[in-house]
Amino acid sequence: MHSGGSGLFPGARSPRGSKDRSLVSNLPSITLNNGVVMPQLGFGVWQVPDDEATATVATALEAGYRSIDTAAIYENEVGTGKALASSGIAREELFVTTKMWNSATETWTREGVLREFDASLDRLGLDYVDLYLIHWPRAMRDDYVTVYRTLVEIAAEGRAKAIGVSNFKRPQLERVIADTSVVPAVNQIELHPNFPQAELRAFHAEQGIATEAWSPLGQGRGLLEDATLARVAAKHGKSPAQVVLRWHLQLGNVAIPKSATPSRIRENIDLAGFELDADDLTAIAGLDTGTRVGPDPDDFDWN
Ligand code: NAD
Repeated sequence: MHSGGSGLFPGARSPRGSKDRSLVSNLPSITLNNGVVMPQLGFGVWQVPDDEATATVATALEAGYRSIDTAAIYENEVGTGKALASSGIAREELFVTTKMWNSATETWTREGVLREFDASLDRLGLDYVDLYLIHWPRAMRDDYVTVYRTLVEIAAEGRAKAIGVSNFKRPQLERVIADTSVVPAVNQIELHPNFPQAELRAFHAEQGIATEAWSPLGQGRGLLEDATLARVAAKHGKSPAQVVLRWHLQLGNVAIPKSATPSRIRENIDLAGFELDADDLTAIAGLDTGTRVGPDPDDFDWN
Protein backbone atom coordinates (compact mmCIF):
# COMPACT_ATOMS: atom_id res chain seq x y z
CA MET A 1 0.00 0.00 0.00
CA HIS A 2 1.35 3.42 -0.83
CA SER A 3 0.13 6.90 -1.50
CA GLY A 4 -1.21 7.30 -5.00
CA GLY A 5 0.07 10.86 -5.22
CA SER A 6 -2.28 11.71 -8.05
CA GLY A 7 -4.99 13.25 -5.91
CA LEU A 8 -7.93 11.81 -4.08
CA PHE A 9 -10.14 11.80 -7.12
CA PRO A 10 -7.92 11.64 -10.19
CA GLY A 11 -9.78 13.15 -13.08
CA ALA A 12 -12.87 13.71 -10.95
CA ARG A 13 -15.36 16.18 -12.33
CA SER A 14 -17.97 17.90 -10.29
CA PRO A 15 -21.43 16.93 -11.53
CA ARG A 16 -22.31 20.63 -11.56
CA GLY A 17 -19.17 21.98 -13.20
CA SER A 18 -15.60 22.14 -11.99
CA LYS A 19 -15.78 24.71 -9.22
CA ASP A 20 -15.45 22.10 -6.45
CA ARG A 21 -12.31 20.53 -7.80
CA SER A 22 -9.92 22.70 -5.78
CA LEU A 23 -11.49 21.43 -2.56
CA VAL A 24 -10.36 17.90 -3.16
CA SER A 25 -7.44 17.96 -5.54
CA ASN A 26 -4.78 17.77 -2.83
CA LEU A 27 -6.32 14.89 -0.93
CA PRO A 28 -4.62 11.54 -1.37
CA SER A 29 -5.68 8.10 -2.42
CA ILE A 30 -4.10 4.77 -1.53
CA THR A 31 -3.38 1.76 -3.69
CA LEU A 32 -4.76 -1.47 -2.25
CA ASN A 33 -2.78 -4.73 -2.30
CA ASN A 34 -4.43 -5.79 -5.58
CA GLY A 35 -3.70 -2.50 -7.37
CA VAL A 36 -7.15 -0.95 -6.92
CA VAL A 37 -7.00 2.76 -6.05
CA MET A 38 -9.16 3.84 -3.10
CA PRO A 39 -9.86 7.42 -2.01
CA GLN A 40 -8.44 8.01 1.46
CA LEU A 41 -11.52 9.93 2.47
CA GLY A 42 -15.04 8.60 1.95
CA PHE A 43 -18.55 9.26 3.14
CA GLY A 44 -20.26 6.87 5.59
CA VAL A 45 -24.04 6.49 5.56
CA TRP A 46 -24.82 4.45 8.69
CA GLN A 47 -28.01 5.75 10.35
CA VAL A 48 -29.08 7.69 7.26
CA PRO A 49 -32.65 6.49 6.52
CA ASP A 50 -33.18 5.15 3.01
CA ASP A 51 -35.56 7.94 2.06
CA GLU A 52 -32.95 10.54 3.10
CA ALA A 53 -29.95 8.72 1.66
CA THR A 54 -30.50 9.93 -1.90
CA ALA A 55 -30.37 13.61 -0.92
CA THR A 56 -27.57 13.12 1.63
CA VAL A 57 -25.35 11.12 -0.73
CA ALA A 58 -26.08 13.64 -3.52
CA THR A 59 -24.85 16.43 -1.20
CA ALA A 60 -21.70 14.44 -0.50
CA LEU A 61 -21.05 13.82 -4.20
CA GLU A 62 -21.57 17.52 -4.96
CA ALA A 63 -19.11 18.37 -2.18
CA GLY A 64 -16.50 16.20 -3.90
CA TYR A 65 -16.66 12.80 -2.17
CA ARG A 66 -16.37 9.91 -4.59
CA SER A 67 -16.23 7.04 -2.09
CA ILE A 68 -19.41 5.96 -0.31
CA ASP A 69 -19.53 3.40 2.52
CA THR A 70 -22.84 1.60 2.99
CA ALA A 71 -23.90 -1.88 4.16
CA ALA A 72 -26.86 -4.22 3.78
CA ILE A 73 -27.78 -3.67 7.43
CA TYR A 74 -27.92 0.13 6.98
CA GLU A 75 -31.01 -0.46 4.82
CA ASN A 76 -30.11 2.47 2.59
CA GLU A 77 -28.50 0.77 -0.40
CA VAL A 78 -31.53 1.65 -2.55
CA GLY A 79 -31.43 5.36 -1.67
CA THR A 80 -27.65 5.42 -2.01
CA GLY A 81 -27.82 3.75 -5.42
CA LYS A 82 -30.33 6.32 -6.64
CA ALA A 83 -27.98 9.16 -5.74
CA LEU A 84 -25.10 7.44 -7.55
CA ALA A 85 -27.24 6.87 -10.66
CA SER A 86 -28.55 10.41 -10.85
CA SER A 87 -25.22 12.10 -10.06
CA GLY A 88 -23.99 12.14 -13.65
CA ILE A 89 -20.60 10.96 -12.36
CA ALA A 90 -18.99 8.17 -14.38
CA ARG A 91 -19.09 4.80 -12.59
CA GLU A 92 -15.31 4.44 -12.76
CA GLU A 93 -14.90 7.69 -10.82
CA LEU A 94 -16.96 6.33 -7.93
CA PHE A 95 -15.81 3.94 -5.21
CA VAL A 96 -18.70 2.05 -3.64
CA THR A 97 -18.31 -0.14 -0.56
CA THR A 98 -20.98 -2.37 0.91
CA LYS A 99 -20.90 -5.09 3.53
CA MET A 100 -22.27 -8.56 4.10
CA TRP A 101 -24.30 -8.68 7.31
CA ASN A 102 -24.00 -11.38 9.92
CA SER A 103 -27.18 -13.15 10.89
CA ALA A 104 -27.40 -14.91 14.21
CA THR A 105 -30.13 -17.09 12.74
CA GLU A 106 -27.96 -18.37 9.92
CA THR A 107 -24.62 -20.06 9.49
CA TRP A 108 -23.40 -18.88 6.13
CA THR A 109 -22.95 -21.21 3.21
CA ARG A 110 -21.44 -20.27 -0.15
CA GLU A 111 -24.94 -20.05 -1.65
CA GLY A 112 -26.17 -17.83 1.16
CA VAL A 113 -23.27 -15.42 0.71
CA LEU A 114 -23.78 -15.25 -3.08
CA ARG A 115 -27.48 -14.56 -2.50
CA GLU A 116 -26.68 -11.73 -0.05
CA PHE A 117 -24.15 -10.21 -2.42
CA ASP A 118 -26.56 -10.34 -5.39
CA ALA A 119 -29.26 -8.69 -3.26
CA SER A 120 -26.90 -5.83 -2.35
CA LEU A 121 -25.91 -5.27 -6.00
CA ASP A 122 -29.56 -5.30 -6.95
CA ARG A 123 -30.52 -2.75 -4.28
CA LEU A 124 -27.60 -0.51 -5.27
CA GLY A 125 -28.49 -0.83 -8.96
CA LEU A 126 -24.87 -1.71 -9.78
CA ASP A 127 -23.20 -4.57 -11.59
CA TYR A 128 -20.11 -4.39 -9.41
CA VAL A 129 -18.96 -2.82 -6.15
CA ASP A 130 -15.48 -1.49 -5.58
CA LEU A 131 -15.14 -3.09 -2.16
CA TYR A 132 -17.13 -5.85 -0.47
CA LEU A 133 -16.52 -6.46 3.23
CA ILE A 134 -17.55 -9.06 5.81
CA HIS A 135 -19.22 -6.74 8.32
CA TRP A 136 -18.31 -8.64 11.53
CA PRO A 137 -16.36 -11.87 12.01
CA ARG A 138 -18.70 -13.27 14.72
CA ALA A 139 -15.90 -15.69 15.44
CA MET A 140 -18.09 -17.57 17.93
CA ARG A 141 -20.09 -18.96 14.95
CA ASP A 142 -17.01 -19.94 13.00
CA ASP A 143 -18.33 -19.31 9.50
CA TYR A 144 -16.17 -16.36 8.46
CA VAL A 145 -13.72 -18.48 6.45
CA THR A 146 -16.61 -19.82 4.33
CA VAL A 147 -17.85 -16.27 3.83
CA TYR A 148 -14.37 -15.04 2.93
CA ARG A 149 -13.76 -17.90 0.46
CA THR A 150 -16.97 -16.88 -1.33
CA LEU A 151 -15.82 -13.26 -1.42
CA VAL A 152 -12.64 -14.49 -3.11
CA GLU A 153 -14.85 -16.05 -5.80
CA ILE A 154 -16.85 -12.84 -6.20
CA ALA A 155 -13.63 -10.89 -6.64
CA ALA A 156 -12.36 -13.38 -9.23
CA GLU A 157 -15.52 -12.71 -11.25
CA GLY A 158 -14.85 -8.96 -11.09
CA ARG A 159 -18.12 -8.31 -9.28
CA ALA A 160 -16.16 -6.78 -6.40
CA LYS A 161 -12.97 -4.98 -7.45
CA ALA A 162 -11.54 -5.61 -4.00
CA ILE A 163 -12.60 -7.63 -0.97
CA GLY A 164 -11.89 -7.24 2.68
CA VAL A 165 -13.18 -7.55 6.19
CA SER A 166 -14.40 -5.38 9.01
CA ASN A 167 -13.98 -5.71 12.75
CA PHE A 168 -11.47 -8.53 12.36
CA LYS A 169 -8.80 -8.92 15.02
CA ARG A 170 -5.40 -10.37 14.32
CA PRO A 171 -6.31 -14.07 14.90
CA GLN A 172 -9.14 -13.92 12.34
CA LEU A 173 -6.94 -12.09 9.83
CA GLU A 174 -4.23 -14.70 10.28
CA ARG A 175 -6.72 -17.50 9.76
CA VAL A 176 -8.27 -16.21 6.52
CA ILE A 177 -4.79 -15.50 5.14
CA ALA A 178 -3.56 -18.98 6.11
CA ASP A 179 -6.66 -20.75 4.78
CA THR A 180 -7.08 -18.90 1.47
CA SER A 181 -3.70 -17.26 0.75
CA VAL A 182 -5.66 -14.13 -0.17
CA VAL A 183 -4.76 -11.15 2.02
CA PRO A 184 -7.79 -8.92 2.64
CA ALA A 185 -7.35 -5.57 0.86
CA VAL A 186 -8.93 -3.68 3.76
CA ASN A 187 -9.86 -4.15 7.41
CA GLN A 188 -12.44 -1.56 8.45
CA ILE A 189 -12.21 -1.09 12.22
CA GLU A 190 -13.23 1.34 14.92
CA LEU A 191 -10.40 3.88 15.04
CA HIS A 192 -10.18 7.46 16.30
CA PRO A 193 -7.84 9.39 18.64
CA ASN A 194 -9.43 7.81 21.75
CA PHE A 195 -8.90 4.32 20.25
CA PRO A 196 -6.01 4.51 17.79
CA GLN A 197 -5.45 0.74 17.30
CA ALA A 198 -1.66 1.01 17.05
CA GLU A 199 -1.01 -2.76 17.24
CA LEU A 200 -3.57 -3.72 14.63
CA ARG A 201 -2.40 -0.92 12.33
CA ALA A 202 1.16 -2.21 12.61
CA PHE A 203 0.00 -5.74 11.75
CA HIS A 204 -1.98 -4.41 8.77
CA ALA A 205 1.11 -2.56 7.54
CA GLU A 206 3.20 -5.76 7.79
CA GLN A 207 0.62 -7.71 5.81
CA GLY A 208 -0.31 -5.08 3.20
CA ILE A 209 -3.84 -4.60 4.53
CA ALA A 210 -5.23 -1.05 4.31
CA THR A 211 -6.63 0.29 7.58
CA GLU A 212 -10.05 1.91 7.19
CA ALA A 213 -11.36 3.83 10.22
CA TRP A 214 -15.01 3.59 11.16
CA SER A 215 -16.45 6.17 13.54
CA PRO A 216 -13.35 8.21 12.60
CA LEU A 217 -14.72 11.17 14.61
CA GLY A 218 -15.59 8.95 17.58
CA GLN A 219 -19.23 9.46 16.58
CA GLY A 220 -18.78 13.11 17.57
CA ARG A 221 -19.40 12.09 21.20
CA GLY A 222 -17.09 14.11 23.45
CA LEU A 223 -14.00 13.73 21.29
CA LEU A 224 -14.77 16.80 19.19
CA GLU A 225 -15.13 18.92 22.37
CA ASP A 226 -11.71 17.90 23.65
CA ALA A 227 -9.59 20.90 24.75
CA THR A 228 -6.38 19.56 23.13
CA LEU A 229 -8.12 19.20 19.79
CA ALA A 230 -9.60 22.68 20.19
CA ARG A 231 -6.11 24.09 20.72
CA VAL A 232 -4.65 22.30 17.67
CA ALA A 233 -7.67 23.34 15.61
CA ALA A 234 -7.31 27.00 16.62
CA LYS A 235 -3.59 26.90 15.75
CA HIS A 236 -4.43 25.85 12.18
CA GLY A 237 -7.63 27.84 11.81
CA LYS A 238 -9.55 24.56 11.30
CA SER A 239 -12.32 22.73 13.15
CA PRO A 240 -11.67 19.83 15.57
CA ALA A 241 -13.31 17.47 13.05
CA GLN A 242 -10.92 18.63 10.33
CA VAL A 243 -7.95 18.09 12.66
CA VAL A 244 -9.07 14.53 13.44
CA LEU A 245 -9.61 13.74 9.76
CA ARG A 246 -6.21 15.23 8.87
CA TRP A 247 -4.70 13.00 11.60
CA HIS A 248 -6.26 9.95 9.91
CA LEU A 249 -4.84 10.95 6.52
CA GLN A 250 -1.37 11.51 7.95
CA LEU A 251 -1.46 8.12 9.72
CA GLY A 252 -2.28 6.50 6.35
CA ASN A 253 -5.81 5.50 7.31
CA VAL A 254 -8.83 5.59 5.08
CA ALA A 255 -11.54 7.56 6.93
CA ILE A 256 -15.28 7.58 6.26
CA PRO A 257 -16.91 10.31 8.37
CA LYS A 258 -20.67 10.56 8.40
CA SER A 259 -22.79 13.66 8.67
CA ALA A 260 -26.33 14.50 7.64
CA THR A 261 -25.62 18.24 7.82
CA PRO A 262 -24.59 19.74 4.46
CA SER A 263 -22.16 22.27 5.97
CA ARG A 264 -20.41 19.51 7.96
CA ILE A 265 -20.35 17.21 4.93
CA ARG A 266 -18.43 19.95 3.10
CA GLU A 267 -16.27 20.78 6.12
CA ASN A 268 -15.19 17.14 6.51
CA ILE A 269 -13.72 16.98 3.01
CA ASP A 270 -12.08 20.41 3.13
CA LEU A 271 -8.76 19.09 4.40
CA ALA A 272 -6.29 20.42 1.87
CA GLY A 273 -3.73 23.10 2.61
CA PHE A 274 -2.77 22.26 6.18
CA GLU A 275 -0.65 19.66 7.87
CA LEU A 276 -0.30 18.55 11.48
CA ASP A 277 3.25 18.88 12.77
CA ALA A 278 5.12 16.63 15.20
CA ASP A 279 3.86 18.61 18.23
CA ASP A 280 0.27 18.26 17.06
CA LEU A 281 0.68 14.52 16.51
CA THR A 282 2.20 14.10 19.99
CA ALA A 283 -0.67 16.05 21.53
CA ILE A 284 -3.26 13.90 19.71
CA ALA A 285 -1.42 10.71 20.73
CA GLY A 286 -2.17 11.77 24.32
CA LEU A 287 -5.90 11.35 23.66
CA ASP A 288 -5.64 7.55 23.58
CA THR A 289 -7.97 6.34 26.35
CA GLY A 290 -8.33 2.80 25.03
CA THR A 291 -12.09 3.24 24.92
CA ARG A 292 -14.37 2.14 22.12
CA VAL A 293 -17.63 3.83 21.14
CA GLY A 294 -18.86 0.59 19.55
CA PRO A 295 -18.93 -3.08 20.56
CA ASP A 296 -15.92 -5.34 20.99
CA PRO A 297 -15.93 -7.70 17.97
CA ASP A 298 -15.20 -10.67 20.25
CA ASP A 299 -18.70 -10.36 21.74
CA PHE A 300 -20.67 -9.07 18.78
CA ASP A 301 -23.32 -11.40 17.33
CA TRP A 302 -26.31 -9.16 16.68
CA ASN A 303 -28.66 -9.73 13.85
P1 NAD B 1 -18.40 9.36 12.87
O1 NAD B 1 -17.20 9.22 13.71
O2 NAD B 1 -18.26 9.57 11.40
O3 NAD B 1 -19.27 10.53 13.54
C1 NAD B 1 -20.44 10.97 12.95
C2 NAD B 1 -21.10 11.99 13.87
O4 NAD B 1 -20.17 13.00 14.24
C3 NAD B 1 -22.25 12.72 13.16
O5 NAD B 1 -23.45 12.01 13.29
C4 NAD B 1 -22.26 14.05 13.88
O6 NAD B 1 -22.97 13.94 15.08
C5 NAD B 1 -20.80 14.27 14.20
N1 NAD B 1 -20.10 15.11 13.19
C6 NAD B 1 -19.78 14.76 11.90
N2 NAD B 1 -19.10 15.75 11.31
C7 NAD B 1 -18.98 16.74 12.21
C8 NAD B 1 -18.38 18.02 12.19
N3 NAD B 1 -17.75 18.47 11.11
N4 NAD B 1 -18.44 18.77 13.31
C9 NAD B 1 -19.07 18.33 14.43
N5 NAD B 1 -19.66 17.12 14.52
C10 NAD B 1 -19.61 16.33 13.42
O7 NAD B 1 -19.33 8.09 13.20
P2 NAD B 1 -20.09 6.94 12.44
O8 NAD B 1 -21.20 7.42 11.64
O9 NAD B 1 -20.34 5.91 13.49
O10 NAD B 1 -18.97 6.31 11.48
C11 NAD B 1 -18.79 6.73 10.14
C12 NAD B 1 -19.10 5.61 9.17
O11 NAD B 1 -18.35 4.45 9.49
C13 NAD B 1 -20.56 5.12 9.25
O12 NAD B 1 -21.45 6.01 8.63
C14 NAD B 1 -20.42 3.80 8.55
O13 NAD B 1 -20.35 3.99 7.14
C15 NAD B 1 -19.09 3.30 9.09
N6 NAD B 1 -19.25 2.40 10.26
C16 NAD B 1 -18.90 1.08 10.10
C17 NAD B 1 -19.01 0.19 11.15
C18 NAD B 1 -18.61 -1.24 10.97
O14 NAD B 1 -18.92 -2.08 11.82
N7 NAD B 1 -17.92 -1.57 9.90
C19 NAD B 1 -19.50 0.63 12.40
C20 NAD B 1 -19.85 1.97 12.55
C21 NAD B 1 -19.70 2.85 11.47
